[in-house]
Amino acid sequence: MQTPRLYQYPWMTPEVDAFREQVRRYIAGELVPHLDAWRRQGFIPPEVWRGFGEMGFLLPEMPEAYGGSGVSKAWQLVVQDELTLAEVPAVTGVHSIVAHYIHDYGTPEQRERWMRKLVDGTWLAAIAMTEPGCGSDLKALKTTARLEGDTYVISGSKTFITNGSTASLLVLACRTGEAGSKGVSLIVLETENLPGFRVGRRLEKIGMHAGDTCELFFDEVRVPASNLLGGVEGKGFAQLMSQLPYERLLIGVPAAAVIDLALSLSVDYTRQRKAFGQHLADFQNTRFKLAEVATIAHVVRGFINDAIQRLVDGTLDDSAAYMAKWWTTEQQGKVVDECLQLFGGYGFMSEYPIARLYVDSRVQRIYGGANEVMKDLIARPLLA
Ligand SMILES: Cc1cc2nc3c(=O)[nH]c(=O)nc-3n(C[C@H](O)[C@H](O)[C@H](O)COP(=O)(O)OP(=O)(O)OC[C@H]3O[C@@H](n4cnc5c(N)ncnc54)[C@H](O)[C@@H]3O)c2cc1C
Repeated sequence: MQTPRLYQYPWMTPEVDAFREQVRRYIAGELVPHLDAWRRQGFIPPEVWRGFGEMGFLLPEMPEAYGGSGVSKAWQLVVQDELTLAEVPAVTGVHSIVAHYIHDYGTPEQRERWMRKLVDGTWLAAIAMTEPGCGSDLKALKTTARLEGDTYVISGSKTFITNGSTASLLVLACRTGEAGSKGVSLIVLETENLPGFRVGRRLEKIGMHAGDTCELFFDEVRVPASNLLGGVEGKGFAQLMSQLPYERLLIGVPAAAVIDLALSLSVDYTRQRKAFGQHLADFQNTRFKLAEVATIAHVVRGFINDAIQRLVDGTLDDSAAYMAKWWTTEQQGKVVDECLQLFGGYGFMSEYPIARLYVDSRVQRIYGGANEVMKDLIARPLLA
């Protein structure tokens, strides 16, 4: 399929292109053949990411001292782009978020303890913020960590946690102090054989079937006080907030990838399928729809590529990142719906990728901050 040429940004170097090609080949050879089985079992075995880490694909943006390649976050976003184009769920995006928390806020001792294992894929990571009683309003969280001597005693529960049953390292948002945002801290848990820690149900979702999404329970879980991220209580909320521009792009880039994929699938299908003696692609309606989707794909990519450049330059402001999250995922929703229509009944069959894209896309408008919350955050400075 011919795609219009987009403006080249400085982050799009020949090295990035070569890396993208390597990642694409690895995903096609090592991950894609197993995807159906992983969808059926409801998770991707964590060992898979060991191979990914050994190839240097898991956290390329981390310093060489920890086994990374010391490149920009654009390289990680390229990996996310390729994983999405292959329909692999957001396991390593979450892993990358956690690694950045440890790297950016951890004490030198904490970085020494955990970074290498995250970079080489020995351990998969998860971030547990959401609770049954609070998602968008995170500062209302109730899971508590009580300091007893040099030990935190943690009680509470979390839900909807990506990598919940497969992660060996968990960054847990919990309450160490007063009500509201100032009483929130991040505590790191090594989950293997941790007394009082229990993985609950692997939740049955309407889409993203290869993604492991769980409930987690903490019953008087004891961890050393030295596991408090950064070593100072009450910093958790600020720590969670300060990585947000990057995290929004970890959702915006997959939105762009799904739009591209839906377009390419639809072009192929409508060229082959016949109705009323002609190809679907010969109906003016089909041509108009494909043209509209191609335009959206073009504008979304332009927006996202620009945002990546600004992230690399350190100039991506929060509002632009919120815009990238809500607007690209909204476009993604519209596009997969329009494209599915072009497939007729086959678009409703789970074995068709367009059907999977349709259901998998829905959550993009909910997680990583619901789109309504994004819009509220954009409006605030406008009206201040
Ligand atoms: C597949 C999946 C994976 C996830 N992975 C993780 C994870 O790894 N870690 C983690 O901590 N969480 C994770 N989540 C949780 C996710 O971040 C929350 O679902 C999300 O933040 C919304 O919270 P909620 O579900 O409690 O909805 P609520 O907060 O109850 O909101 C429900 C709806 O109310 C509306 N709303 C809420 N607040 C406002 C507002 N201020 N203004 C206007 N409208 C509003 C929105 O339409 C929103 O969708 C995941 C969720 C899913 C579905």
